[in-house]
Amino acid sequence: MSGIINPFHIAQRQLDEAAELLGLAPTLHAFLREPMQEVAFTLPVQMDDGTQEVFKGFRIQYNTARGPAKGGIRFHADETVDTVRALAAWMTWKTALADLPLGGGKGGVVCDPRSLSPSELERLSRGYMRKIAHVIGPEVDVPAPDVYTNPQIMAWMLDEYEVMTGRHLPGVITGKPVALFGSQGRGDATARGGMYTVREAAAALNLNLAGAPMAIQGYGNAGQYAHQLGGELLGLKTVAISDSRGAIYNPHGIAYKAAMAWKRARGTVAGFPEAEPCNPAELLELPVTILVPAALEAVITDENAPRVKARIVAELANGPTTPEADRILHENGSYVIPDFLCNAGGVTVSYFEQVQNAYNFYWPLAEVHSRLDASITRAFYQVHEMAQDRHIHNRLAAYLVAVKRVAEAVALRGWIR
Ligand code: NAD
Repeated sequence: MSGIINPFHIAQRQLDEAAELLGLAPTLHAFLREPMQEVAFTLPVQMDDGTQEVFKGFRIQYNTARGPAKGGIRFHADETVDTVRALAAWMTWKTALADLPLGGGKGGVVCDPRSLSPSELERLSRGYMRKIAHVIGPEVDVPAPDVYTNPQIMAWMLDEYEVMTGRHLPGVITGKPVALFGSQGRGDATARGGMYTVREAAAALNLNLAGAPMAIQGYGNAGQYAHQLGGELLGLKTVAISDSRGAIYNPHGIAYKAAMAWKRARGTVAGFPEAEPCNPAELLELPVTILVPAALEAVITDENAPRVKARIVAELANGPTTPEADRILHENGSYVIPDFLCNAGGVTVSYFEQVQNAYNFYWPLAEVHSRLDASITRAFYQVHEMAQDRHIHNRLAAYLVAVKRVAEAVALRGWIR
């Protein structure tokens, strides 16, 4: 999808709309439309058969007015510099909306990690860290996992950085395994935060969630935990799931443990015997209460938005909805919990991980959960109230809150007068 619709153009258009409502000065607006710093490089990796392959990599620091850049690293075959720019921009608005003392960044490598052996993946991960080590650090820019990267990859990258610098600096990267001083609760934090926002949206809309149907597009970190926690925390019934290889549907509900066991064994949910196959595109249009896009960008467009029936669209993915689709969903009465609010739980617990690393003192799981709940619930109501007060859709409201904070920091620093 990202090859057809340019996510960075979408991110810029979203900002433009907010800038106009905020009355941002043209120079400040122009400054916020572009990343502050970009690093692009080639990455030669030794393959197991003795040959070498050259990959393309990026690290983009979009804005650091409120603190060190923060954002994940994505390994994906369709990665482009503009996808990384868009994701880095959204990280900037996300950390500001959650009121974390951080800026926004993102990284990526154009590769298909599923075609790499574990040792090739390790060499790619260590090579990526060697290329970005000179522009990152706990007080500069702190990467984390994203699509097709995980705690093991963070562990290899941490080790490479510490070998290069000759010291222990666990705060250089987050989303680490707990055994290497990651935070309790980081694994499911994105989906957990998202489910907390669904809980609040349902309260605001007076909806009963017990037994309400949910469809999930994407069954990785975000999607799998949405399935589990949607059931455990809110009593939701997941009726449809998709991943890159297929989609399944069972109106009576899909059991989390059985679906996970099937996915682990076969690498896909397709073929799961306790559900029917379904058309992945139609999953987005099912008559569900909650729709969770948890895969990639630009999947809800002006083409399919009129057929979306969900009462709440909980965007765990970054950038799943185009600006045209936003307007259609709003007009049709779907309540969108925008990506940089809905999925802010991940970066919030990554921030907690940084805090714990800096103090070298670690919190119990219950403390992580209660702090996450308080933080994301506060952000939810700031967006909800802004949207109600100004009669605008939630994404625009979230932009108004976040961009105002970043603009204020830029102005206070005297970068743009
Ligand atoms: P992941 O690599 O763990 O999983 C991605 C999933 O998406 C896989 O199941 C894959 O099969 C599926 N997928 C890929 N293409 C698809 C397609 N065309 N249709 C349906 N499914 C498809 O990644 P993740 O960490 O779960 O990230 C998913 C989304 O959530 C991304 O947009 C990411 O930026 C966002 N996000 C993740 C985090 C986090 O902490 N992991 C935080 C914030 C936002």
